[in-house]
Amino acid sequence: MTDACVVVNGLRKRFGPTIALDGMSFGVRPGLVTGFAGPNGAGKSTTMRVILGLDAADEGTALIGGRPYRDLRRPLCQVGSLLDASALQPGRTARDHLMWLARSQGLGARRVDAVIEQVGLRTAARRRAGGLSLGMRQRLGIAAALLGDPPVLIMDEPFNGMDPEGIIWIRALLRSLAAEGRAVLVSSHLMSELQDTADHVVVAGRGRVIADASVARLLETASGRRATLEEAYLE
Ligand code: ADP
Ligand code: MG
Repeated sequence: MTDACVVVNGLRKRFGPTIALDGMSFGVRPGLVTGFAGPNGAGKSTTMRVILGLDAADEGTALIGGRPYRDLRRPLCQVGSLLDASALQPGRTARDHLMWLARSQGLGARRVDAVIEQVGLRTAARRRAGGLSLGMRQRLGIAAALLGDPPVLIMDEPFNGMDPEGIIWIRALLRSLAAEGRAVLVSSHLMSELQDTADHVVVAGRGRVIADASVARLLETASGRRATLEEAYLE
């Protein structure tokens, strides 16, 4: 974990009687896609929100390059739940949203149009955000995350709402972003979505890590039990 650029250490978090995080600890390395798997309620989104400074942990730390999120000079962006329908103004176009975000980061129209191309949003970018499909909203969220060319990308369930073609596309995008040296953390409640995407998978269950290994190693362990990854780790 010494070369990890995101280090989550001993996070604990309760929501009233619910224990959301119960000692969550793992690292995310640059140059790799790290999958964050686990059934609904395992604590994936809460962990990501804590990393991104959107939620405070009761105990433990989440550091990016050795610093808490609030001390970073460059903003990182969460994808998925941040730019969901409630965050979009339905009457404005997808491009308007990106322009607004770009201006707040001191970026111009050129960067916006480059990112629109990169995520395959060219046609949809001129439509009103209110009419975008969930898949196109996900692409918009990913575009927003890429605007500032962040070294770390944190994506919460980016496969949600994607059609099969969109899933293939996002898989390739995540792989190329990691190949360029970024640290990519991507959550999914489906191991099958991460199996062909991630190099490494952290499996969460009940607020803590129950497995943390390369996909190859997880497959080896699962096949030793004559099980699929889904059966071995998510059931
Ligand atoms: P995951 O993303 O893995 O599905 P979450 O981090 O969303 O899991 O949730 C972990 C647990 O914390 C769940 O039991 C969930 O109901 C609870 N939880 C998450 N956010 C809140 C909240 N804002 N208020 C109350 N309970 C919450
Ligand atoms: Mg979640």
